[in-house]
Amino acid sequence: MQAKKKQSKADITIIRIEKAIRDIYNEIDKSIPLHSPCFRGKERDYVQDCIQTGWVSSVGEYVSRLEEMVAGFTGARYAIATVNGTAAIYVSLVLAGVREGDGVLCPAFTFVGTVNPIIYSRAVPVFMDSDPLSLGMDPVKVESYLGGQCTRGQDGYPYEKRTGRRISACLPMHAYGFPVNMARTLDVCREYGVAVIEDAAEALGSWYGEQHCGTMGTLGAFSFNGNKTITTGGGGMIVTNAGDLARKAKHLTTTAKVDHTWNYMHDDVGYNFRMPNLNAALGCAQMENLEFLLARKEEQAARLIEIIADVEGVEAVSPRTGKANHWLNLVRVSPVDRDEILYGLNERGIQARASWMPVCDMLPYKNFDQFEVNSARELYASVICLPNGCL
Ligand SMILES: *Cc1c(COP(=O)(O)O)cnc(C)c1O
Repeated sequence: MQAKKKQSKADITIIRIEKAIRDIYNEIDKSIPLHSPCFRGKERDYVQDCIQTGWVSSVGEYVSRLEEMVAGFTGARYAIATVNGTAAIYVSLVLAGVREGDGVLCPAFTFVGTVNPIIYSRAVPVFMDSDPLSLGMDPVKVESYLGGQCTRGQDGYPYEKRTGRRISACLPMHAYGFPVNMARTLDVCREYGVAVIEDAAEALGSWYGEQHCGTMGTLGAFSFNGNKTITTGGGGMIVTNAGDLARKAKHLTTTAKVDHTWNYMHDDVGYNFRMPNLNAALGCAQMENLEFLLARKEEQAARLIEIIADVEGVEAVSPRTGKANHWLNLVRVSPVDRDEILYGLNERGIQARASWMPVCDMLPYKNFDQFEVNSARELYASVICLPNGCL
């Protein structure tokens, strides 16, 4: 008789996480994606309407309708639809006054889509650490960087002592929909004269007190990519409370054309970052379902937290800086077992992923400045992402 292979600690963890996720989804054998879009409303009708009327491209009423819906939901005064979230961040940086050679403070622990737009705007990322409690950029470390490494210039901006670089903006990101400690972040940035642009790509439905994520800085950006809480296929949104910035955002993202009946005249080097009406149509139907989706995610996250509490070596990650949208379910595992757990879960049809490798440890960014990013590395080593959506 052959001895049965002894189960390792990781094997037991894999089986218990799989069971927890399958219980929540009430799904015994199908594979469960990390995030899949949920179409249960008028998506088909609205998209069909675009095709029937011919309004599929850069002009159409669904675009302004989606903008109104997002402004209405988030409480932002203005919302400007864009082709994706990356473009929304890029244009926000430009409008916030980020200039060539400036430094922009950004979290190391983020999706690369936060950082790439800094390079597009010819600025330089300065990587900051994350607060393990909120998973977002740590305002205490931002303050110690601005206070210790910079001096105030004649123009009021902080300048890095070592490089002479002006620090013009700070780009906090609400990680996995968990709100950043915004009160402290806004205070520090105000004190040092740095503009705040929020990467709220993952945070539709997340609130910091009474304020929706993305609406507290000068500008904020959302993403409606296929993996986000709601999707337009691909798409994004800039939000702001400043009328002049909103007008500029619309103008710049729509080729900077001067309004005229028959003449093509452009008064700036604009971008073709418009969201097509076809995509906006999908988005309007998705917005109508947002409350349903959020309620479901919240309920599933609560159940996972409850079930996981009994699983040894696994800890649910649930920051309490505000009300999160529970975009994904996050758990912390032992860094020693992490890879084995990720392999095992994926093998068993539970699409699990590592959290973000600090962007400053990736090839394109490893020569840029970083400031004490140790918590970011610890988060990457232990936090994994599990599904939370509908099947
Ligand atoms: C998705 C995402 C982006 C980019 O959005 P796209 O619509 O995919 O361009 C940027 N930042 C974060 C944190 C994201 O999750």
